[in-house]
Amino acid sequence: MTSSEPISAQGTRLRPPSVDLILAWPVMVRLCAIHGRPVVLESIRERLDQWRQQSEPFDDTDFAAAVERSVLSTVAPSLRRVFNLTGTVLHTNLGRAPLPQEAIEAMVSVASGASNLEFDLDKGKRGDRDDHVEEWVCRLTGAEAATVVNNNAAAVLLVLNSLARRKEVIVSRGELIEIGGAFRLPDIMARAGCKLHEVGTTNRTHPRDFENAISPRTGLLMKAHTSNYRVEGFTAEVAEAELAAIAHDHQLPLAVDLGSGSLLDMVALGLPAEPTVRETLDKGADVVTFSGDKLLGGPQAGIIAGRAELISKIRKNPLKRALRCDKQTLAALEAVLRLYGNPDIVVERVPALRLLTRPEAAIRQAADTIAGPLSEWAGKDWDVSVAEVKSQIGSGSLPLDLLPSAAVRLTPVSGNKRQRSRQLKELSARLRQLPIPVIGRVSEDALLLDCRCLEDSGAFLAQLEAEANEP
Ligand SMILES: *Cc1c(COP(=O)(O)O)cnc(C)c1O
Repeated sequence: MTSSEPISAQGTRLRPPSVDLILAWPVMVRLCAIHGRPVVLESIRERLDQWRQQSEPFDDTDFAAAVERSVLSTVAPSLRRVFNLTGTVLHTNLGRAPLPQEAIEAMVSVASGASNLEFDLDKGKRGDRDDHVEEWVCRLTGAEAATVVNNNAAAVLLVLNSLARRKEVIVSRGELIEIGGAFRLPDIMARAGCKLHEVGTTNRTHPRDFENAISPRTGLLMKAHTSNYRVEGFTAEVAEAELAAIAHDHQLPLAVDLGSGSLLDMVALGLPAEPTVRETLDKGADVVTFSGDKLLGGPQAGIIAGRAELISKIRKNPLKRALRCDKQTLAALEAVLRLYGNPDIVVERVPALRLLTRPEAAIRQAADTIAGPLSEWAGKDWDVSVAEVKSQIGSGSLPLDLLPSAAVRLTPVSGNKRQRSRQLKELSARLRQLPIPVIGRVSEDALLLDCRCLEDSGAFLAQLEAEANEP
C-alpha cells in the first residue's frame, strides 16, 4: 500500500489516502474484479465518512478489512433459504409451500430459455398461457374451465370486477374475512368496483336474508370460507347448495372464495376437514377461487375454476393481463397438478402434504438427531431436551386445529425472568445468523425448534459443526 501521505509513528496515517489511491490497493483491485467497482467505491466512501466522524488515526489494514466486510454484506443475497422450525408448515412470512422436485425442475427448464408459454405447438400459432394448467384443473376439480392469476387475493379481485362491477355483491356478515397481510374482503370489494351488501348478523345468517337483499342491482352472491376463525354457539349459515339455489333462481352466479381449497379429502389424510374444490362446485358454486401455495402445495398463484361462460368473461377482463402469472409459476403449477393426477404418489411427492402428514415418530427422530449437537453448540448455559409440541397448518387454516409434533426445547439454565428473556432473544438471533438461518419460536420461557419441517437434518448439523470449527 503505497501513498505519499504522512505516516505516523504507529504505522497509521494522520489523514486517509485519496479514494483513487485506496482503489489501487491490491485488496481493492481484487474486490473490484469480483464484485464490481461501483459497490467497492460505495463502501470506501461510506467507510471514509464513518472514519471522519471519529477522531482516530487512519489504519490501512483496519480500513481495508472494514471495506471488505461492507462489500460482502452489500452483495450477500437478501432472499434466501431458511430452516422453518416454527411449527407452522405453510408460513406466509417464510414463503408458504416448499415445492416438489418436479416443480423445481419444470421452473428451471422454462427459466433457462425460450418456451411455448403462449404458443400452440400443434397448430403452430399463438396460444394462451392458461392452456398449460387449465385441463389439469378441470380434470382434478370437475370444473368446465379455469384460469390462473398471481395469487388468490388477485383471483377474488378479478372475479368480483369481472362479474359484478358497479353492482351489489351480497355476503353474510359472518364471512367478512380478514386474512393476514391486509386482505380484507370489504376493501377488495371496494377496489373491484363492487358495492358490498352485507346480510344477516355476525353469528346467524338465513336464506331469507339473501332472498330479501336480491334486487336488480345485485350482480353476485358470494360465500367466503372462514378459514382462520370459528364462530361457535348460537350460529347459522347458509350452506353452498342452498345459496346456489337462491342465486340460480334469480339468474345470478354464486362465487365461493375457498382460500386454501384442497384437491384432496384432508380427513382421509388424518388432517382437519377442509372443503374440496370439487365438492364446492358440485354443490352449485359457479366460480371458486383458491390459492396455489396453501394446501395445494404449489407456487404462489390464484386459481379460478368454474363455469366456462363465466371464466371466459373473466379472461377477457383487462385486469387479467395485469394479474397474470409468469412462466415459472405456470411451469411449477402444471408439475404439481400432474402429481395430483396420481393419488398413489401425491402425498409423498408434494412436500406440503408430506410435512402435514409426517408421522410423529419421524419428527421425534429428527428432533433426537439434532438435540445433542444443538446442546453442544448452545453451550453450558442451556438446558436442551426433546418435547412434545403442536404444529399448525398455517396460511389462514384454523389456528385451533393443531398437529402433534416434536421439538428441541432450549431453556436457559439460570437467570431471572428478564435475563432469560434476553438470553432467548440472543440465542434466536444466533440461530438466525447461521448460513442457512434457523427460525424457531419462543414459547413459555423456552426456544422451541419444531422438527416437523426438518427433513434435511444433515445440512442442519453441518452448519452447526462448521460454526463450531471457526477460529
Ligand atoms: C389466503 C386467503 C386469501 C388470500 O390468498 P393469497 O393466495 O394469499 O392471496 C383469500 N381468501 C381466503 C379465504 C384465504 O384463506
